[in-house]
Amino acid sequence: YRDTDLTLSAEGVSKSFDGFKAINDLNFYLGDGELRTVIGPNGAGKSTFMDLITGRTTPDVGSLTFHQPDGHDVDLCKLREYQINRLGIARKFQTPSVYTQHTVRDNILLSLNRDRGVLRALFYSETQQDRDEIDEVLEIIRLGDRRDELAGSLSHGQKQWLEIGMLLAQKPRVLLVDEPAAGMSDEETERTGELLLSLEGKHSVVVVEHDMEFVRQIARKVTVLHQGHVLKEGSFDEVAGDPTVKEVYLGR
Ligand code: ADP
Ligand code: MG
Repeated sequence: YRDTDLTLSAEGVSKSFDGFKAINDLNFYLGDGELRTVIGPNGAGKSTFMDLITGRTTPDVGSLTFHQPDGHDVDLCKLREYQINRLGIARKFQTPSVYTQHTVRDNILLSLNRDRGVLRALFYSETQQDRDEIDEVLEIIRLGDRRDELAGSLSHGQKQWLEIGMLLAQKPRVLLVDEPAAGMSDEETERTGELLLSLEGKHSVVVVEHDMEFVRQIARKVTVLHQGHVLKEGSFDEVAGDPTVKEVYLGR
């Protein structure tokens, strides 16, 4: 990448827990609008890496940089978790957290107006712009036909999409998603892949994933983590065909 195309850089990042190196001299570069898949065996450091990017934890050494469109660089190591989130790095955890007692569209409204607090957001008179943004998100997550139903009545997969929609309502530049297809049916998994692919070019997305079939479906560039380090980076075929990757990841 040229510098101007970059959204995130991690350089020489290490993080130990009680002397154990969960992340070990990691280098990682994410381009603007890129859809990246990060895979690796259990304990490879995937979740820790997401924790580092989002400021949940800080590196022992190394740099984490968020490159702004205007050319200036933000040192993520100096910021708190909520500040990083406000800057436009959103994270979706595996368990969906939606407001089950509110409708699908109100969940998106609440997320749009997160600064107002739940009660004020619900009683505030929404603008035409709010309505347009809600419609836009509903179209992306393809839940337009469920807009007036309670979020609690959605299937597990639909809740996951709603939560992605709630994050999209906040217009993040970077979206981190942890195993988005876990527990989904084949059809829901395929739709999740389509949803993530539709974000390409608009957001930089990092998907942490175990399911190799799903990785094959959404894979653009794949990063394989092993023992806190990048073992291999490349296309799905390059990565899946690599003997070392097969050995450590696929167990063959
Ligand atoms: P992955 O998400 O790839 O399965 P993790 O990032 O969760 O891997 O964990 C990487 C390694 O770091 C594991 O060996 C794990 O036990 C260890 N680890 C992660 N977080 C902590 C923590 N808070 N305290 C101690 N050890 C941790
Ligand atoms: Mg994990």
